[in-house]
Amino acid sequence: MATAGGGHKSAAESIAEALTHQYGDQVIIDTVDVLKEYAPHPFGYSPEAYQLMIKAPAAWKGFYDLGDGVRRSKMINTSISRYARRHSARLLDNHEADIIISTYHFANSPILETLSRRHLTTPFVTVVTDLVTAPPIWFDTRTSLCITPTPETAELALRSGLDPDVIKVIGMPVSSRFTPPTRPKSDLKTALGWPADKPVIIAMAGGEGVGALDQIAEELTTLDATIVIITGKNAHLLEKLSTENAPENLKVYGFVNNMNELMQAADLIVTKAGPGTIMEALNSHLPLILYARLSGQEDGNVSFVTNHGAGLWQPKIHEMAATIQTIFDDPLAIANMTAAAATIAQNGASTKIATAIGDLLAL
Ligand code: UDP
Repeated sequence: MATAGGGHKSAAESIAEALTHQYGDQVIIDTVDVLKEYAPHPFGYSPEAYQLMIKAPAAWKGFYDLGDGVRRSKMINTSISRYARRHSARLLDNHEADIIISTYHFANSPILETLSRRHLTTPFVTVVTDLVTAPPIWFDTRTSLCITPTPETAELALRSGLDPDVIKVIGMPVSSRFTPPTRPKSDLKTALGWPADKPVIIAMAGGEGVGALDQIAEELTTLDATIVIITGKNAHLLEKLSTENAPENLKVYGFVNNMNELMQAADLIVTKAGPGTIMEALNSHLPLILYARLSGQEDGNVSFVTNHGAGLWQPKIHEMAATIQTIFDDPLAIANMTAAAATIAQNGASTKIATAIGDLLAL
């Protein structure tokens, strides 16, 4: 996995959790952050570059377009594999494994190239963490198993030349802690110290918390609702929003490790269209308002949610409160969106992914 954003890491953690749950001490899991520990210079700066690029949509789009095309992505994969040769060799030396599972697209080709140069047949599993519009860099024909969240991503894998036999549409890996609420939301709100009788809206922007969250806080606190802003790793924003004269209905959190509890208690989430957050919300049956996306890579995430009626696309921050008020004024809107979220939720995908991995190891 890699910590560019929070999605690749959360996906890896959910698979580790499911493997441990299913196979106990039959498995030893070694989670490796390839960007932090093994990226050749200057890719070690990728997490910082990611933070900068997600602030600049044009830069992101340019970067995404570079790898959007089967031929171009093969060239990029070949170049990265050559450039990272010594680093991926060191990775394999340091982490002897019976199976390798990747939730990070840029790691696939360099590792598969090293396995192939060493004539090793260690199974390599690609777990795609983009819901619909996955860049072809994900797909290396040498992968033993390619697990995708949707038929659309499976189709992209096929177009990149993967054998149909190695592609399995299973779902997006999300921790099994993300479930629909098992108690009334009013009880869950009270447990979190929030008013029980007001709607709760979470606003967040992936693991990095980069973007217009301060404007969103200002806009949403005009509503008669509790506004929960999650700033993730963005310490600057956390400090900026945690002022003494902040509106009373604003609750500000830094990086949280109980996202599942917050989602279960909330009535609506306003978020960047990150695939991890989207699927966690859907698995919690929580309606979404998507206000930003990474051009190209996250386009399909927006249509996945809006086409099914589980949420809306509202990129105009200054109209966000009015959009939400319209939803709250319609007694059926939240119920309909919640029901739609339930129809496209993928609860249990991590367990099925763990089973597919266990099958490869004959566990
Ligand atoms: N996340 C978290 N705590 C936070 C902020 C984010 O656990 O305070 C997790 C979130 O639950 C999700 C991931 O970080 O699993 C964000 O992934 P996503 O794919 O939505 O966006 P990315 O950060 O990769 O752009």
